[in-house]
Amino acid sequence: MEVAEFSSTRPANDPGWSVRISPNASEVIHAESNRCAPSETGGYLFGRIDVRRRTIHVTRAGTQSVDSRGSAGGFLRGVSDAPFVRNIIQRTGETITYVGDWHSHPRGGGEPSITDLNAAEELRQEVSPLGLPALMVIATPRALHPYVFGNHTANSEVSIYSMQRRRRISASIVESL
Ligand SMILES: [Zn+2]
Repeated sequence: MEVAEFSSTRPANDPGWSVRISPNASEVIHAESNRCAPSETGGYLFGRIDVRRRTIHVTRAGTQSVDSRGSAGGFLRGVSDAPFVRNIIQRTGETITYVGDWHSHPRGGGEPSITDLNAAEELRQEVSPLGLPALMVIATPRALHPYVFGNHTANSEVSIYSMQRRRRISASIVESL
């Protein structure tokens, strides 16, 4: 794998992490986003999480499952693809795992909505007992915006972030959490 080709981004809500998205995953996300616009769409993200180095590699992005609901107002990921997810993980001998979700904001605006933050909080509660962070990637027509909710990110901190999201999120805000 040519790690150098991965585009690396630091999540606005936690710049201590580094999120690297493969060209393939990035292509799938942008193509699906364009295809479904003006409705939002989304899916699973697969890859590897290195907790010690605080790095997440996204190697593959899934597309919208049949029970997902996307509209111009939001996206709710379904669960019908769960067996497919298990299959991918098993097939790769668990070197590739489920790392989070992506969804599109076709009209732009890379910041998470309140609904997005609630979904992220649910996901965080699911994966943090495993010692893993939850990754959420928001795709705008021009860029991919990653957010990482780690097991150190307390529920109240997600809420504070949610209240402050209308202001420009700066590293100093994140640090003061
Ligand atoms: Zn959203």
